[in-house]
Amino acid sequence: MAYENYEPVIGLEVHVQLQTDAKIFSPDATAFGAAPNTQVDPISLGHPGTLPVLNEKVVAYALRLGLATHCSIASRSVFARKHYFYPDLPKGYQISQYDTPICYDGHVDIFPGDEDETPTGGKASRRVGLTRIHMEEDAGKSMHDPDGSTRLDYNRCGIPLLELVTEPDLRSPREARLFLERLRQLVRYLDISDGNMEEGSLRCDANVSVRPRGREAFGTRTELKNMNSMRHVEQALDYEITRQIAAEERGNTITQQTLLWDPDSGTTRPMRSKEEAHDYRYMPDPDLVEVTVSDEMVAQVRDGLPELPRARQQRFVEEIGLPAYDAGVLTEERAVADYFEETLRHLYKRTKGGDTDAQAKTVSNFIMTEVLRVLNERDLDVEALPVTPERLAQLVFLRLQDKVSSNGAQEVFAAMMEQPDKSAGAIADERDLIQVSDRSAIAPVVDNVISDHTDKVQTYLDGKDGLLGFFIGQVMQRFDGSPNPELVRSLLRDKLEAQRDPANVDE
Ligand code: ADP
Ligand code: MG
Repeated sequence: MAYENYEPVIGLEVHVQLQTDAKIFSPDATAFGAAPNTQVDPISLGHPGTLPVLNEKVVAYALRLGLATHCSIASRSVFARKHYFYPDLPKGYQISQYDTPICYDGHVDIFPGDEDETPTGGKASRRVGLTRIHMEEDAGKSMHDPDGSTRLDYNRCGIPLLELVTEPDLRSPREARLFLERLRQLVRYLDISDGNMEEGSLRCDANVSVRPRGREAFGTRTELKNMNSMRHVEQALDYEITRQIAAEERGNTITQQTLLWDPDSGTTRPMRSKEEAHDYRYMPDPDLVEVTVSDEMVAQVRDGLPELPRARQQRFVEEIGLPAYDAGVLTEERAVADYFEETLRHLYKRTKGGDTDAQAKTVSNFIMTEVLRVLNERDLDVEALPVTPERLAQLVFLRLQDKVSSNGAQEVFAAMMEQPDKSAGAIADERDLIQVSDRSAIAPVVDNVISDHTDKVQTYLDGKDGLLGFFIGQVMQRFDGSPNPELVRSLLRDKLEAQRDPANVDE
């Protein structure tokens, strides 16, 4: 296949649905999943005599995303009416921004190397330019029934969106997915959207073309719509790139058009041309004043930005001593990263020094295995986890002191999930999981076992090493409590070796 001889070029247009309590131009409620047409007011419907008033939160959220993506901020920007007819748009126009977006010329870095077999520890990054980010209102939702009728839900009319347009800087479907994953992570860190693609809080249209490798000029692009998950974006782009290359190879020209992804057949089909006839007749919205953003506003938003994922990941490596992989997993979600740091704070209060890197790694292991697993299994948010950071610190402390074995710790963790009021120590005690790591307590039992099995001791000394397991089992059985198995093994080995005839040992 001549696939390798071509280079894909991809640019994305992404809509981020903002989680504000009110709509962008009216005080209407915005709860997700409300009964159809219960969250509509005359302003969102564009009734005569109503006037839109900009929700300041939307500006603040736009600035948050703009600053986090290194954009320039426009001190003045204008809302425009974008006219088109569709039943889900009762006003006959959508209020958007056109030639003056509030944010422009930014970038987002992606790290394709982090996913490779030999991760580069974040060194191999690719910079994706952002052309613009602008504010706009959403339209309603049409539901097409199988009998051919269409129902309309206007709840979504006026829900605030940020539209973000990238430069044609992405070079593969995988890079497009990485960009979207990065963006989703960012909007969640910034607490401006849940970034859920399946529910439509993050929507992506992808523009794609191919060119022979080495050629600078871009090819003709198509636009892909209707992809409701990261996986669909990757699949749709793969399909379309292959289709375009095959056309090029046959000497066919590629038509600029909009294509709909059909996840069931795994193919794209052209949108009806009427649906994409664009003559929006943009004009400044005479009902809305210019949006002005002062330096003070920008400074205030900048001060309120949280530590962003990449910086946090780096700090986890450089200051806390975690491997880059762990740092990546733990900073994927801001709440999980908070949980990790909170646990460390509690743990350090107990350990008061020592090898803090190793302590952090133990906490990281617990979170990456036990915590993330139960969150996943029970579909819980980390904030709702019965094992709070303080309780996890108790458990990790027990483990670090070797008071519980690694299996024991897992059992304690599971019990802590069901008994939110009990400390890790109390649970370990109750279940007889506190292991004895005191030599002087274990040694007499070892001696007893050895003197009770003189014949087996001889067989062992004659070369049957496998019998060590038998002796260990005997000690564990006779011991009242749980002796540390490593300690039992080493004590047994020492005492058995001591029984050897010195002449033989010297041989
Ligand atoms: P329009 O004016 O039709 O909206 P834009 O120039 O704004 O077009 O580009 C829309 C999107 O398409 C942007 O994300 C841009 O990066 C991308 N794009 C533009 N040209 C190409 C191309 N030849 N191949 C792939 N993507 C492209
Ligand atoms: Mg455009």
